[in-house]
Amino acid sequence: MSTSPPPPLADATTETGCTDHLIERIKRNGPISIAAFMETVVDTYYARGNIFGRSGDFVTAPEISQVFGELIGLWCITAWQCLDQPRDFHLVECGPGRGTLMADIIRTTSKAAPRFGYAVSVHLIERSEKLRAEQEKTLMGHNVSWHEDLSTLPEGPVILVANEFLDALPITQYVKTSSGWCERLVNHNGREFVFTVAGLPTPNIDDAFHDAPEGSILEHSTAVHNVVSDISKLCIERPGIGLLIDYGYVRTDIGDTLQAVKDHAYAPVLKAPGFSDLTAHVDFALVSEAARSVGSAVYGPVEQGLWLKRLGIKVREAQLSDGKSKQDVETIRASIARLIDPEAMGSLFKVLAIAPSHIAPLAGFEAKVK
Ligand code: SAH
Repeated sequence: MSTSPPPPLADATTETGCTDHLIERIKRNGPISIAAFMETVVDTYYARGNIFGRSGDFVTAPEISQVFGELIGLWCITAWQCLDQPRDFHLVECGPGRGTLMADIIRTTSKAAPRFGYAVSVHLIERSEKLRAEQEKTLMGHNVSWHEDLSTLPEGPVILVANEFLDALPITQYVKTSSGWCERLVNHNGREFVFTVAGLPTPNIDDAFHDAPEGSILEHSTAVHNVVSDISKLCIERPGIGLLIDYGYVRTDIGDTLQAVKDHAYAPVLKAPGFSDLTAHVDFALVSEAARSVGSAVYGPVEQGLWLKRLGIKVREAQLSDGKSKQDVETIRASIARLIDPEAMGSLFKVLAIAPSHIAPLAGFEAKVK
C-alpha cells in the first residue's frame, strides 16, 4: 500500500471531530490500519475536553473515590523508600486526565512523608492542551512540568504512575481468514466507515493461535509494547519504579476488545469518530514481556480489588466513615465497593509494577514474577 503523509489534524475542529481528516486519508492511501484510525480518534477526542465525570463520558477510579489516590500516594512513598529515598526525584504520571490522581497523591504524600514532598518534582505526560489546562487548575500551587512523551524527562530517579493510560494507545487487529491472519482495516464506503480486511495475510503472527476458527480476531499493540519498554528502561537506568493500572487480560488471547464509550454507555466504534472515547483492553502478557525484554523485574499483574485491599482500603474506609452520617457512610461504602468488587472494577482492572531487578518486594504484590 502506498503511503503519502496524512494531512494535518489541525483542521479537526471540536465540531467536526476527525471524520473529514480520516476520509481524506483513506481517499489518498486506501483503507487505514485500526492503529492509525485509533490514534487520530483518541487525539481528537481528548483535544475536545469535558470527558470525565457525570457530565462527561466516563468515570475513572480517582474520580470515584479519593481513597484510590491516597493509597497510590502511600504506595509511592514505599517505592521511594525502595529506591533509598533519593533527595531529588521525578514523580511522573502518564495520561493524568483531570489531574485528580496526582492531586490526591501530592496531598497524601506531603502529610505522610514530608521529606518525600521536599524531594519530589512533578511531571505530567499529556498531549491534550485542554486537559493540560484542567490539570494546571487542579494542581494550582504545585510545581508541575508537562511533556509530550517520556523522552524529555530530566535526569534523575523516577516514580511513574499511569491509570487508564495504556488502554488509550493504538492497537492493530488481525482477522483469521482461509489464507491466514490478515490485518483488519478501516475503509469509508461514501456514507460511513466500515471494517475491511487486507487482501494478503500478515506473516509471523503468534503461532499459538494457528487453530483459531475463521473470523477470530487477534490484537496486538506495538504502542503499548514501546511505551512499556521505554518505562522499563527508565526504571533500570535512573533508577525508577513504575505502576501501571488498567482494564485488561492476563494472557494473550483471541477476541475483539476495541470499544467506544460515550455518555457512560457503549457506542459504535466507527461512528462519529472523535466524539466518543476509543480504547482496547490491555494485554498484560504483552506488558510483562515488554518490561522483561529490557531486563526489568515485573510485579503482578494483580487484580485491582485485591491490590487495594492489600494496601489497606478497608482500614481507610473505616477511618473515613468514623463519625459520619448514615448517608455519608453509605456513599463511602458504595464508592469503595465500585473500586474493589469483582463485578465492578475489582477484577477487570489489573495492577502491574516495573522495577530494577535488585529492588525489595513492592507493597501490594506478593512476589516478583520471574
Ligand atoms: N489517568 C486519568 C485519565 C485517563 S484517560 C484518570 O485515571 O482519570 C487517558 C489519558 O491519557 C488522558 O489524559 C489523555 O489525554 C491521555 N493520553 C491518551 N493518549 C495519550 C498519548 N499517546 N500520550 C500522552 N497522553 C495520552
